[in-house]
Amino acid sequence: MAKSKPKPSFESWGRYPRLDAKLVPLHWRGDFPLRKAADGPMLPVGAGRSYGDVCLLEGGTLLHTRGMDRLIAFDPQSGLLRCEAGITLAEILDFAVPRGFFLPVTPGTKYVTVGGAIANDIHGKNHHSAGSFGCHVPRFELVRSDGTRILCSPTENAEWFRATVGGMGLTGLITWAEIRLRPIVSRMIDYQGDKFVGLDEFFTLANSAKTEYTVAWIDCVSTGRNFARGIFMHGEHATIPGSLKKSKEPWLTFPIDLPEIALNKFSMAAFNTAYYNKQLKKQQKAVVDYEPYFYPLDSVLQWNKMYGKAGLLQFQNVIPFEAGKEGMAEILKAITRSGLASFLAVIKFFGDIPSPGMMSFPAPGVMLALDFPIRHEVSFDLLDRLAAITLDYGGRMYSAKDARMTAAQYQTFYPNWQAFLPYIDPAFDSAFWQRVTGRRAIDA
Ligand SMILES: Cc1cc2nc3c(=O)[nH]c(=O)nc-3n(C[C@H](O)[C@H](O)[C@H](O)COP(=O)(O)OP(=O)(O)OC[C@H]3O[C@@H](n4cnc5c(N)ncnc54)[C@H](O)[C@@H]3O)c2cc1C
Repeated sequence: MAKSKPKPSFESWGRYPRLDAKLVPLHWRGDFPLRKAADGPMLPVGAGRSYGDVCLLEGGTLLHTRGMDRLIAFDPQSGLLRCEAGITLAEILDFAVPRGFFLPVTPGTKYVTVGGAIANDIHGKNHHSAGSFGCHVPRFELVRSDGTRILCSPTENAEWFRATVGGMGLTGLITWAEIRLRPIVSRMIDYQGDKFVGLDEFFTLANSAKTEYTVAWIDCVSTGRNFARGIFMHGEHATIPGSLKKSKEPWLTFPIDLPEIALNKFSMAAFNTAYYNKQLKKQQKAVVDYEPYFYPLDSVLQWNKMYGKAGLLQFQNVIPFEAGKEGMAEILKAITRSGLASFLAVIKFFGDIPSPGMMSFPAPGVMLALDFPIRHEVSFDLLDRLAAITLDYGGRMYSAKDARMTAAQYQTFYPNWQAFLPYIDPAFDSAFWQRVTGRRAIDA
Protein backbone atom coordinates (compact mmCIF):
# COMPACT_ATOMS: atom_id res chain seq x y z
CA MET A 1 0.00 0.00 0.00
CA ALA A 2 1.28 3.49 -0.88
CA LYS A 3 2.55 5.47 2.13
CA SER A 4 0.37 8.49 2.86
CA LYS A 5 2.01 11.93 2.68
CA PRO A 6 2.65 13.91 5.91
CA LYS A 7 -0.23 16.08 7.19
CA PRO A 8 -0.30 19.35 5.24
CA SER A 9 -0.62 22.79 6.89
CA PHE A 10 -4.28 23.03 5.77
CA GLU A 11 -6.70 20.26 4.83
CA SER A 12 -10.03 20.34 3.06
CA TRP A 13 -12.89 18.37 4.65
CA GLY A 14 -12.39 15.35 2.38
CA ARG A 15 -8.64 15.34 3.29
CA TYR A 16 -7.98 14.65 -0.39
CA PRO A 17 -5.91 15.66 -2.25
CA ARG A 18 -3.10 16.28 0.25
CA LEU A 19 -1.34 19.41 -0.98
CA ASP A 20 0.92 21.62 1.08
CA ALA A 21 1.17 25.41 1.01
CA LYS A 22 2.42 28.12 3.36
CA LEU A 23 -0.37 29.24 5.71
CA VAL A 24 -0.39 32.98 6.51
CA PRO A 25 -2.95 34.01 9.17
CA LEU A 26 -4.83 37.28 8.63
CA HIS A 27 -6.20 39.00 11.75
CA TRP A 28 -7.13 42.46 10.50
CA ARG A 29 -8.75 43.74 7.35
CA GLY A 30 -5.58 45.78 6.76
CA ASP A 31 -3.32 42.68 6.86
CA PHE A 32 -3.86 42.24 3.11
CA PRO A 33 -2.10 42.98 0.78
CA LEU A 34 0.73 41.24 2.63
CA ARG A 35 3.71 43.36 3.63
CA LYS A 36 6.19 40.77 2.32
CA ALA A 37 5.95 39.15 -1.12
CA ALA A 38 4.03 35.84 -0.99
CA ASP A 39 5.60 32.51 -1.88
CA GLY A 40 4.01 31.70 -5.23
CA PRO A 41 0.31 32.23 -5.97
CA MET A 42 -2.15 33.05 -3.17
CA LEU A 43 -5.62 31.87 -2.18
CA PRO A 44 -7.88 33.01 0.68
CA VAL A 45 -9.27 30.17 2.81
CA GLY A 46 -11.87 29.99 5.55
CA ALA A 47 -12.66 26.95 7.69
CA GLY A 48 -11.65 24.31 5.10
CA ARG A 49 -15.19 22.86 5.01
CA SER A 50 -15.03 22.43 1.23
CA TYR A 51 -14.52 18.77 0.44
CA GLY A 52 -12.08 18.85 -2.47
CA ASP A 53 -9.34 21.15 -3.75
CA VAL A 54 -11.21 24.46 -4.15
CA CYS A 55 -9.54 25.64 -0.92
CA LEU A 56 -6.11 24.14 -1.64
CA LEU A 57 -2.89 25.10 -3.39
CA GLU A 58 0.37 23.27 -3.84
CA GLY A 59 3.41 25.35 -3.00
CA GLY A 60 1.65 28.72 -2.83
CA THR A 61 0.39 30.86 0.07
CA LEU A 62 -2.97 30.31 1.73
CA LEU A 63 -4.42 33.44 3.35
CA HIS A 64 -6.11 32.04 6.45
CA THR A 65 -9.01 34.35 7.29
CA ARG A 66 -10.34 32.79 10.53
CA GLY A 67 -8.67 35.55 12.61
CA MET A 68 -10.92 38.13 10.89
CA ASP A 69 -13.94 37.09 12.96
CA ARG A 70 -15.52 40.29 14.27
CA LEU A 71 -19.10 41.52 14.13
CA ILE A 72 -19.07 45.13 12.91
CA ALA A 73 -22.66 46.41 13.06
CA PHE A 74 -26.22 45.14 13.46
CA ASP A 75 -29.56 46.83 12.84
CA PRO A 76 -32.27 45.00 14.85
CA GLN A 77 -35.01 46.75 12.83
CA SER A 78 -33.98 45.38 9.45
CA GLY A 79 -31.85 42.39 10.55
CA LEU A 80 -28.89 43.72 8.53
CA LEU A 81 -25.59 42.40 9.93
CA ARG A 82 -22.14 43.57 8.90
CA CYS A 83 -19.26 41.27 9.85
CA GLU A 84 -15.74 40.30 8.92
CA ALA A 85 -15.40 37.50 6.38
CA GLY A 86 -13.61 35.00 8.64
CA ILE A 87 -16.47 34.73 11.15
CA THR A 88 -18.33 31.42 11.07
CA LEU A 89 -22.06 30.92 10.70
CA ALA A 90 -21.91 29.23 14.16
CA GLU A 91 -20.56 32.46 15.67
CA ILE A 92 -23.26 34.49 13.88
CA LEU A 93 -25.97 32.14 15.22
CA ASP A 94 -24.63 32.54 18.78
CA PHE A 95 -25.16 36.30 18.38
CA ALA A 96 -28.35 36.28 16.32
CA VAL A 97 -30.58 33.53 17.78
CA PRO A 98 -30.86 35.09 21.28
CA ARG A 99 -31.90 38.33 19.51
CA GLY A 100 -34.59 36.55 17.47
CA PHE A 101 -32.78 36.25 14.14
CA PHE A 102 -31.58 33.36 11.97
CA LEU A 103 -29.43 32.92 8.87
CA PRO A 104 -31.26 33.50 5.59
CA VAL A 105 -29.60 30.38 4.10
CA THR A 106 -27.52 27.75 5.87
CA PRO A 107 -25.60 24.71 4.62
CA GLY A 108 -25.49 21.33 6.40
CA THR A 109 -22.73 22.56 8.74
CA LYS A 110 -22.53 25.83 10.67
CA TYR A 111 -18.73 25.72 10.78
CA VAL A 112 -18.19 27.62 7.52
CA THR A 113 -17.05 31.22 7.24
CA VAL A 114 -18.97 34.06 5.62
CA GLY A 115 -16.15 34.43 3.04
CA GLY A 116 -16.41 30.74 2.17
CA ALA A 117 -20.21 30.94 2.00
CA ILE A 118 -20.04 33.80 -0.50
CA ALA A 119 -17.14 32.38 -2.53
CA ASN A 120 -19.03 29.09 -3.10
CA ASP A 121 -22.45 30.79 -3.15
CA ILE A 122 -23.69 28.02 -0.89
CA HIS A 123 -27.28 26.76 -0.72
CA GLY A 124 -29.45 25.21 1.98
CA LYS A 125 -32.65 23.26 2.49
CA ASN A 126 -34.61 26.40 1.53
CA HIS A 127 -33.10 26.88 -1.92
CA HIS A 128 -36.55 26.52 -3.51
CA SER A 129 -37.93 29.34 -1.32
CA ALA A 130 -34.89 31.59 -0.68
CA GLY A 131 -32.30 30.99 -3.43
CA SER A 132 -28.59 30.81 -2.63
CA PHE A 133 -26.55 32.64 0.07
CA GLY A 134 -25.48 35.41 -2.32
CA CYS A 135 -29.14 36.46 -2.74
CA HIS A 136 -29.02 37.71 0.88
CA VAL A 137 -25.70 39.57 0.71
CA PRO A 138 -26.40 43.20 -0.19
CA ARG A 139 -22.73 44.32 -0.04
CA PHE A 140 -19.16 43.25 0.62
CA GLU A 141 -15.62 44.58 0.26
CA LEU A 142 -13.19 42.91 -2.13
CA VAL A 143 -9.46 43.62 -1.82
CA ARG A 144 -7.20 42.84 -4.75
CA SER A 145 -3.50 41.92 -4.47
CA ASP A 146 -2.50 45.39 -5.79
CA GLY A 147 -4.33 46.97 -2.83
CA THR A 148 -7.42 48.11 -4.76
CA ARG A 149 -10.54 48.00 -2.55
CA ILE A 150 -13.83 47.42 -4.39
CA LEU A 151 -17.25 47.84 -2.73
CA CYS A 152 -19.47 45.28 -4.43
CA SER A 153 -23.27 45.07 -4.51
CA PRO A 154 -25.83 44.03 -7.11
CA THR A 155 -25.87 47.68 -8.27
CA GLU A 156 -22.39 49.01 -7.34
CA ASN A 157 -19.48 47.38 -9.22
CA ALA A 158 -22.11 44.80 -10.12
CA GLU A 159 -19.77 42.86 -12.43
CA TRP A 160 -17.32 42.32 -9.53
CA PHE A 161 -20.24 41.22 -7.34
CA ARG A 162 -21.34 38.68 -9.97
CA ALA A 163 -17.77 37.36 -10.39
CA THR A 164 -16.98 37.12 -6.65
CA VAL A 165 -20.23 35.45 -5.49
CA GLY A 166 -19.45 31.84 -6.41
CA GLY A 167 -15.99 32.98 -7.63
CA MET A 168 -14.14 30.36 -5.52
CA GLY A 169 -11.80 32.90 -3.90
CA LEU A 170 -10.10 33.73 -7.19
CA THR A 171 -11.15 37.37 -7.61
CA GLY A 172 -9.50 38.71 -4.43
CA LEU A 173 -9.97 38.70 -0.66
CA ILE A 174 -13.44 39.43 0.77
CA THR A 175 -12.74 41.34 3.99
CA TRP A 176 -16.27 42.09 5.27
CA ALA A 177 -19.83 41.49 4.14
CA GLU A 178 -23.39 42.43 4.98
CA ILE A 179 -26.01 39.69 5.41
CA ARG A 180 -29.77 40.11 5.74
CA LEU A 181 -30.84 37.92 8.69
CA ARG A 182 -34.45 36.71 9.01
CA PRO A 183 -36.58 36.98 12.18
CA ILE A 184 -37.55 33.94 14.29
CA VAL A 185 -39.53 33.62 17.52
CA SER A 186 -38.16 30.27 18.70
CA ARG A 187 -35.21 27.90 18.27
CA MET A 188 -37.65 25.18 17.33
CA ILE A 189 -38.56 23.75 13.93
CA ASP A 190 -41.93 22.21 13.08
CA TYR A 191 -40.83 18.98 11.45
CA GLN A 192 -42.58 16.38 9.32
CA GLY A 193 -40.92 13.23 7.96
CA ASP A 194 -42.53 11.24 5.14
CA LYS A 195 -41.12 7.84 4.21
CA PHE A 196 -40.99 7.01 0.51
CA VAL A 197 -39.90 4.14 -1.69
CA GLY A 198 -38.64 4.97 -5.17
CA LEU A 199 -38.01 8.15 -7.13
CA ASP A 200 -41.65 8.45 -8.29
CA GLU A 201 -42.78 8.82 -4.70
CA PHE A 202 -39.93 11.24 -3.93
CA PHE A 203 -40.90 13.41 -6.92
CA THR A 204 -44.56 13.48 -5.84
CA LEU A 205 -43.58 14.61 -2.32
CA ALA A 206 -41.12 17.23 -3.58
CA ASN A 207 -43.60 18.61 -6.11
CA SER A 208 -46.33 19.06 -3.52
CA ALA A 209 -44.15 20.34 -0.63
CA LYS A 210 -45.14 23.82 0.61
CA THR A 211 -42.71 24.13 3.54
CA GLU A 212 -39.79 26.57 3.69
CA TYR A 213 -37.17 23.84 4.17
CA THR A 214 -37.18 20.47 2.40
CA VAL A 215 -34.60 17.76 1.89
CA ALA A 216 -34.70 13.97 1.67
CA TRP A 217 -32.29 11.36 2.93
CA ILE A 218 -32.02 8.56 0.37
CA ASP A 219 -30.71 5.01 0.80
CA CYS A 220 -28.00 4.46 -1.82
CA VAL A 221 -27.32 0.84 -0.93
CA SER A 222 -30.63 -1.02 -1.19
CA THR A 223 -31.75 -2.59 -4.43
CA GLY A 224 -34.88 -4.43 -5.64
CA ARG A 225 -38.13 -3.30 -4.02
CA ASN A 226 -36.22 -1.06 -1.60
CA PHE A 227 -34.37 0.81 -4.38
CA ALA A 228 -34.29 4.60 -3.75
CA ARG A 229 -36.19 4.49 -0.47
CA GLY A 230 -35.81 7.39 1.90
CA ILE A 231 -37.31 9.94 4.27
CA PHE A 232 -38.56 13.31 3.00
CA MET A 233 -37.96 15.92 5.71
CA HIS A 234 -40.00 19.14 5.81
CA GLY A 235 -39.29 21.99 8.21
CA GLU A 236 -40.61 25.45 9.15
CA HIS A 237 -39.48 27.82 11.89
CA ALA A 238 -41.99 27.39 14.74
CA THR A 239 -44.46 30.26 15.02
CA ILE A 240 -45.21 29.74 18.73
CA PRO A 241 -42.75 31.89 20.74
CA GLY A 242 -40.19 29.73 22.56
CA SER A 243 -36.62 29.57 23.79
CA LEU A 244 -33.99 31.62 21.90
CA LYS A 245 -31.03 30.46 24.00
CA LYS A 246 -27.53 30.18 22.55
CA SER A 247 -26.55 26.64 21.46
CA LYS A 248 -24.37 24.44 23.65
CA GLU A 249 -20.87 23.62 22.41
CA PRO A 250 -20.60 20.11 20.93
CA TRP A 251 -18.71 17.89 23.32
CA LEU A 252 -17.92 14.90 21.11
CA THR A 253 -14.85 14.83 18.87
CA PHE A 254 -14.16 11.87 16.61
CA PRO A 255 -11.03 10.53 18.31
CA ILE A 256 -9.08 8.57 15.68
CA ASP A 257 -8.76 7.89 11.98
CA LEU A 258 -10.79 4.71 11.54
CA PRO A 259 -9.06 1.91 9.62
CA GLU A 260 -10.23 1.61 5.99
CA ILE A 261 -12.04 -1.67 6.58
CA ALA A 262 -14.35 -0.17 9.21
CA LEU A 263 -16.52 1.46 6.54
CA ASN A 264 -17.56 -1.22 4.15
CA LYS A 265 -20.57 -2.30 2.13
CA PHE A 266 -21.99 -4.21 5.12
CA SER A 267 -21.61 -1.52 7.79
CA MET A 268 -23.11 1.07 5.42
CA ALA A 269 -26.01 -1.21 4.44
CA ALA A 270 -26.72 -1.77 8.15
CA PHE A 271 -26.61 1.99 8.77
CA ASN A 272 -28.94 2.75 5.86
CA THR A 273 -31.48 0.14 7.01
CA ALA A 274 -31.34 1.39 10.61
CA TYR A 275 -31.77 5.00 9.46
CA TYR A 276 -34.77 4.15 7.30
CA ASN A 277 -36.37 2.18 10.13
CA LYS A 278 -35.74 4.76 12.86
CA GLN A 279 -39.02 6.31 11.74
CA LEU A 280 -41.62 3.61 12.25
CA LYS A 281 -44.70 5.28 10.79
CA LYS A 282 -45.11 6.39 7.18
CA GLN A 283 -45.49 9.97 8.42
CA GLN A 284 -44.16 11.51 11.61
CA LYS A 285 -44.56 15.04 13.00
CA ALA A 286 -42.44 16.59 15.74
CA VAL A 287 -41.14 19.87 17.08
CA VAL A 288 -37.32 19.70 17.04
CA ASP A 289 -34.44 22.02 17.90
CA TYR A 290 -32.83 23.72 14.90
CA GLU A 291 -29.40 22.18 15.66
CA PRO A 292 -30.25 18.54 14.89
CA TYR A 293 -32.56 19.62 12.04
CA PHE A 294 -29.98 21.73 10.18
CA TYR A 295 -26.69 20.34 11.47
CA PRO A 296 -27.09 16.64 12.32
CA LEU A 297 -23.38 16.02 11.69
CA ASP A 298 -22.00 18.95 13.66
CA SER A 299 -22.59 17.26 17.01
CA VAL A 300 -19.49 15.15 16.39
CA LEU A 301 -16.51 17.36 15.59
CA GLN A 302 -14.06 16.01 12.99
CA TRP A 303 -16.44 13.26 11.86
CA ASN A 304 -14.47 13.14 8.61
CA LYS A 305 -11.89 11.02 10.49
CA MET A 306 -14.44 8.22 10.34
CA TYR A 307 -13.31 7.75 6.73
CA GLY A 308 -9.74 7.03 7.76
CA LYS A 309 -6.50 8.62 6.61
CA ALA A 310 -7.26 8.07 2.93
CA GLY A 311 -10.12 10.56 3.19
CA LEU A 312 -13.42 10.84 1.38
CA LEU A 313 -14.79 12.03 -1.93
CA GLN A 314 -18.05 13.92 -2.30
CA PHE A 315 -20.24 13.93 -5.33
CA GLN A 316 -22.89 16.60 -5.76
CA ASN A 317 -24.75 17.40 -8.91
CA VAL A 318 -27.95 18.97 -10.18
CA ILE A 319 -29.87 17.70 -13.21
CA PRO A 320 -32.59 19.84 -14.88
CA PHE A 321 -36.15 18.74 -14.05
CA GLU A 322 -36.89 17.52 -17.62
CA ALA A 323 -34.26 14.76 -17.29
CA GLY A 324 -34.06 14.66 -13.49
CA LYS A 325 -35.85 11.41 -12.70
CA GLU A 326 -34.17 9.40 -15.44
CA GLY A 327 -30.73 10.88 -14.72
CA MET A 328 -30.94 10.30 -10.96
CA ALA A 329 -32.16 6.71 -11.49
CA GLU A 330 -29.10 6.01 -13.65
CA ILE A 331 -26.81 7.57 -11.06
CA LEU A 332 -28.32 5.60 -8.18
CA LYS A 333 -28.05 2.36 -10.18
CA ALA A 334 -24.38 3.08 -10.96
CA ILE A 335 -23.76 3.59 -7.21
CA THR A 336 -25.52 0.40 -6.07
CA ARG A 337 -23.77 -1.61 -8.86
CA SER A 338 -20.34 -0.30 -7.78
CA GLY A 339 -20.67 -1.83 -4.31
CA LEU A 340 -19.32 1.46 -2.91
CA ALA A 341 -21.97 2.56 -0.51
CA SER A 342 -22.58 5.98 1.00
CA PHE A 343 -23.92 6.83 4.45
CA LEU A 344 -25.00 10.30 3.82
CA ALA A 345 -26.94 10.79 0.63
CA VAL A 346 -29.41 13.63 0.25
CA ILE A 347 -31.69 14.54 -2.63
CA LYS A 348 -33.61 17.79 -3.06
CA PHE A 349 -35.34 20.02 -5.58
CA PHE A 350 -33.59 23.33 -6.29
CA GLY A 351 -35.95 26.19 -7.16
CA ASP A 352 -35.80 28.76 -9.93
CA ILE A 353 -34.59 31.84 -7.99
CA PRO A 354 -31.55 32.88 -10.06
CA SER A 355 -28.15 32.60 -8.34
CA PRO A 356 -26.39 35.97 -8.35
CA GLY A 357 -22.92 34.63 -9.23
CA MET A 358 -21.73 33.92 -12.76
CA MET A 359 -20.02 30.71 -11.54
CA SER A 360 -22.66 29.69 -8.93
CA PHE A 361 -23.68 26.03 -8.78
CA PRO A 362 -27.43 26.05 -8.00
CA ALA A 363 -29.79 25.85 -10.98
CA PRO A 364 -33.39 24.63 -11.27
CA GLY A 365 -33.52 20.83 -11.06
CA VAL A 366 -32.96 17.81 -8.84
CA MET A 367 -29.85 17.84 -6.66
CA LEU A 368 -28.08 14.78 -5.22
CA ALA A 369 -25.17 14.84 -2.74
CA LEU A 370 -23.32 11.90 -1.23
CA ASP A 371 -19.90 10.82 -0.07
CA PHE A 372 -17.68 7.78 -0.51
CA PRO A 373 -14.60 6.56 1.29
CA ILE A 374 -11.54 6.73 -0.96
CA ARG A 375 -10.73 3.24 -2.21
CA HIS A 376 -8.55 4.51 -5.03
CA GLU A 377 -9.42 3.29 -8.48
CA VAL A 378 -12.83 1.92 -7.38
CA SER A 379 -14.00 5.27 -6.01
CA PHE A 380 -12.25 7.24 -8.75
CA ASP A 381 -13.91 5.10 -11.46
CA LEU A 382 -17.32 5.56 -9.86
CA LEU A 383 -16.93 9.33 -9.51
CA ASP A 384 -15.80 9.59 -13.12
CA ARG A 385 -18.84 7.56 -14.19
CA LEU A 386 -21.20 9.80 -12.17
CA ALA A 387 -19.66 12.91 -13.75
CA ALA A 388 -20.17 11.41 -17.21
CA ILE A 389 -23.85 10.61 -16.47
CA THR A 390 -24.36 14.16 -15.15
CA LEU A 391 -22.95 15.52 -18.39
CA ASP A 392 -25.18 13.24 -20.51
CA TYR A 393 -28.28 14.54 -18.72
CA GLY A 394 -27.36 18.21 -19.08
CA GLY A 395 -26.56 18.71 -15.37
CA ARG A 396 -23.57 20.14 -13.55
CA MET A 397 -21.40 19.33 -10.53
CA TYR A 398 -20.58 21.47 -7.48
CA SER A 399 -17.02 22.82 -7.33
CA ALA A 400 -17.06 23.06 -3.50
CA LYS A 401 -17.53 19.29 -3.24
CA ASP A 402 -15.35 18.11 -6.09
CA ALA A 403 -11.85 16.67 -6.51
CA ARG A 404 -12.21 14.79 -9.83
CA MET A 405 -13.90 16.80 -12.61
CA THR A 406 -11.88 17.03 -15.79
CA ALA A 407 -11.21 20.36 -17.51
CA ALA A 408 -13.52 19.36 -20.38
CA GLN A 409 -16.35 18.46 -17.98
CA TYR A 410 -15.99 21.63 -15.91
CA GLN A 411 -15.93 23.85 -18.97
CA THR A 412 -19.14 22.25 -20.26
CA PHE A 413 -20.85 22.46 -16.84
CA TYR A 414 -19.85 26.13 -16.45
CA PRO A 415 -19.91 27.77 -19.90
CA ASN A 416 -19.32 31.20 -18.25
CA TRP A 417 -15.79 30.20 -17.28
CA GLN A 418 -14.20 32.27 -20.04
CA ALA A 419 -16.22 35.38 -19.16
CA PHE A 420 -14.96 34.88 -15.58
CA LEU A 421 -11.24 34.91 -16.54
CA PRO A 422 -10.74 38.73 -16.61
CA TYR A 423 -11.89 38.98 -12.96
CA ILE A 424 -9.30 36.55 -11.55
CA ASP A 425 -6.66 38.31 -9.48
CA PRO A 426 -3.32 37.80 -11.32
CA ALA A 427 -1.64 36.79 -8.01
CA PHE A 428 -4.37 34.24 -7.09
CA ASP A 429 -4.81 30.59 -8.08
CA SER A 430 -6.12 27.32 -6.60
CA ALA A 431 -5.47 23.62 -7.06
CA PHE A 432 -9.07 23.31 -8.28
CA TRP A 433 -8.65 26.05 -10.85
CA GLN A 434 -5.35 24.57 -12.06
CA ARG A 435 -7.15 21.23 -12.55
CA VAL A 436 -10.23 22.52 -14.36
CA THR A 437 -8.15 24.70 -16.65
CA GLY A 438 -5.96 21.69 -17.58
CA ARG A 439 -2.82 22.77 -15.66
CA ARG A 440 -2.89 20.04 -12.98
CA ALA A 441 -3.29 16.34 -13.65
CA ILE A 442 -6.00 14.26 -11.96
CA ASP A 443 -4.87 11.17 -10.00
CA ALA A 444 -5.26 7.98 -12.05
C1 LIG B 1 -20.85 18.59 6.66
C2 LIG B 1 -20.88 19.58 5.54
C3 LIG B 1 -22.10 19.94 4.99
C4 LIG B 1 -22.16 20.86 3.94
N1 LIG B 1 -23.38 21.20 3.44
C5 LIG B 1 -23.45 22.09 2.43
C6 LIG B 1 -24.72 22.50 1.93
O1 LIG B 1 -25.77 22.06 2.39
N2 LIG B 1 -24.74 23.42 0.93
C7 LIG B 1 -23.59 23.95 0.41
O2 LIG B 1 -23.68 24.78 -0.50
N3 LIG B 1 -22.38 23.58 0.87
C8 LIG B 1 -22.30 22.67 1.86
N4 LIG B 1 -21.06 22.32 2.36
C9 LIG B 1 -19.87 22.92 1.76
C10 LIG B 1 -19.48 24.25 2.43
O3 LIG B 1 -20.63 24.99 2.77
C11 LIG B 1 -18.67 25.09 1.45
O4 LIG B 1 -17.60 24.36 0.94
C12 LIG B 1 -18.16 26.40 2.08
O5 LIG B 1 -17.69 27.23 1.05
C13 LIG B 1 -17.06 26.16 3.10
O6 LIG B 1 -16.70 27.39 3.69
P1 LIG B 1 -15.29 27.55 4.45
O7 LIG B 1 -15.34 28.76 5.29
O8 LIG B 1 -14.93 26.28 5.10
O9 LIG B 1 -14.34 27.88 3.22
P2 LIG B 1 -13.10 27.05 2.53
O10 LIG B 1 -13.59 25.67 2.34
O11 LIG B 1 -11.91 27.26 3.40
O12 LIG B 1 -13.00 27.83 1.21
C14 LIG B 1 -14.04 27.74 0.26
C15 LIG B 1 -13.82 28.73 -0.88
O13 LIG B 1 -13.99 30.04 -0.39
C16 LIG B 1 -12.88 30.86 -0.71
N5 LIG B 1 -12.76 31.84 0.38
C17 LIG B 1 -12.78 31.59 1.71
N6 LIG B 1 -12.69 32.75 2.39
C18 LIG B 1 -12.63 33.74 1.49
C19 LIG B 1 -12.52 35.17 1.57
N7 LIG B 1 -12.47 35.81 2.74
N8 LIG B 1 -12.44 35.87 0.42
C20 LIG B 1 -12.51 35.25 -0.78
N9 LIG B 1 -12.62 33.92 -0.93
C21 LIG B 1 -12.68 33.18 0.20
C22 LIG B 1 -11.72 29.88 -0.83
O14 LIG B 1 -10.70 30.37 -1.67
C23 LIG B 1 -12.40 28.67 -1.44
O15 LIG B 1 -12.47 28.81 -2.84
C24 LIG B 1 -20.96 21.42 3.42
C25 LIG B 1 -19.72 21.06 3.96
C26 LIG B 1 -19.68 20.15 5.02
C27 LIG B 1 -18.34 19.77 5.60
